[in-house]
Formats: sequence, structure tokens, C-alpha cells
Amino acid sequence: MKIIRTISDMQEAVQTLRRDGKRIGFVPTMGYLHAGHLSLVHLARQQSDRVVVSIFVNPTQFGPNEDLEAYPRDFARDEALCRDADVDYIFYPSAAEMYPPGAGVYVNEDHLSTKLCGASRPGHFRGVLTVVTKLFHIVQPDVAVFGEKDAQQLRLIHQMVDDLNVPVTILPGPIVREADGLALSSRNVYLSETERREALCLRKALDQAEQMHASGERSARSVITAMEKILNTTPSARVDYLSIVHWNDLSPAEQLEGDILIALAVYIGRTRLIDNTRLKTTDAHAS
Ligand code: AMP
Repeated sequence: MKIIRTISDMQEAVQTLRRDGKRIGFVPTMGYLHAGHLSLVHLARQQSDRVVVSIFVNPTQFGPNEDLEAYPRDFARDEALCRDADVDYIFYPSAAEMYPPGAGVYVNEDHLSTKLCGASRPGHFRGVLTVVTKLFHIVQPDVAVFGEKDAQQLRLIHQMVDDLNVPVTILPGPIVREADGLALSSRNVYLSETERREALCLRKALDQAEQMHASGERSARSVITAMEKILNTTPSARVDYLSIVHWNDLSPAEQLEGDILIALAVYIGRTRLIDNTRLKTTDAHAS
């Protein structure tokens, strides 16, 4: 496994791989890796000859009052995990390498990025789309894997690749959870013992929604009310948003019909956690 820190070295390495006809799989991350990230690496592995993982805590996707400085970092641990997972290259640039002074071009999306997380984190998706575009140009992957955990991000990456004709296949990876249902996240380390227990309310609320959907409930309002009840009775939880939207345009859905995303962001103490579920309904027997 090679660790590459400069853009020119990474571009040189992929040029050689491409000349040799190797298919490149790419997993962008902010590091502090967990089994969710590694599941994406395994997916990339299945689809390619060489796997590149980037580890970069991207400053442009953090707001001024967010946790950029505090974001957990442990490169030695990440390196060992990547080695075990058979990663071929870690791209590990500095912020100065990625954003030299004077940089002023960004990738922005005007519609999907204003909703859900975009509404509470202005500029977040501009930062994400900009860094992913840069990483795509640096790594030049055939296939790039993104987690369904960040559902809106995944939706936006698809949109960007379509709108800008980026020659890369986007592969979604299912959400990996702890045994009790909490979605794995690098930010889970912020949680105290009590908060860790109470963080389960996100999954419990989604379970409730899935059960209601399975038993024929189609009213988004009823589902939201039932989910809110679970979240609002959890002492450390403060809901940032809880939305039932159409997957395609992320517009609010009144009925659970078609391809639906139920997404939520909840502060558990000071830690903001997100989770979601996709419900695809093709039946006609709505209640
Ligand atoms: P991050 O390091 O949090 O920016 O995440 C890097 C990639 O891993 C993104 O595509 C995330 O959606 C994905 N990811 C994060 N957590 C999970 C999880 N629990 N299951 C699956 N994918 C995840």
C-alpha cells in the first residue's frame, strides 16, 4: 500500500495505472475509519483492480461554528485499517495542498443542496461537491463508492455526475450499523455513555416509520408525528430536522408512495447525528 500526499504524485500514479488498463475504484473519506467506510472499500474492491481511499477532513464543508478542529483524526489507525482491507493507495493531502491561496472556483448545486442538511448547514454541499470534483480529477476513478448513510450527499453526487458529464460510475453502499442499530459514524466518539444509549432514538424513530409503512400507513404526517413522539421523549435529543421527501427532488411528500426518503438530523447533546431510510412503494393499497 502506498501513501501519497501530493496531487501530482497521485495523478502520476493513476496515469500509470490507466496506461496499464487497470480499473480504479475510489472511496473518499474524512478518515477515522470504521466498518462503514471499510464496507465501501470492499465494494470498490469487487468492482476494480486498484482501490484508492482518500483521507481528508475537508475544511470547506464545515461551517464557522462546526467541529472542523475537533473532528477525530488518527492516521496511524486509518493506515492499519486500510492495509488490512487491502487498499492499494491512500491519498492523504494537507489542506494547503488541496486549497492553495487564491483558489476561488467552487461547484455549486442550486436546488437539492438547499434542503434537509443543506438548510441547516449553508455552504456544506458546495464544499462537498467542490472537494469531490477535485478528488475525481486527481484520482480519475472508474467507480466511486458513497454511503447511503449520507443520503442527500449521494443524491447530489449523482446529480453532479449527470449534470457535469463526469465519466465515473457512482456506487451506493448500504448503511452499516452497530449491533443495536446505531449507524456507524466517526462522530459517535463524541457521545457520552448516556448519549450513546439515547442516540438509539434515531434508529427507533426510523423503525417506527418502517413498521407503520409495512402495515399500510401512507400518511407522512402520521408517520412524522409518531417519530417525533420517540425523539421528543429522549432527554438528550433535539431534532434539527425530520423530513419525508421524494428521493428524486427531495421535495416534501404527503404520502408514502413511490421512492421515498425519510431523513433526520438530531443533536444528541452537542453531537449532530444523521440517519435515514428509503421506502419504495409500488403497491396501490394505500390506507
Ligand atoms: P465520512 O468519512 O463521514 O465523510 O464518510 C465517508 C464515506 O463513508 C461517505 O460516503 C459516507 O456516506 C460513508 N459512510 C459513513 N458512515 C457510514 C455507514 N455507517 N455506513 C455506510 N457508509 C458510511
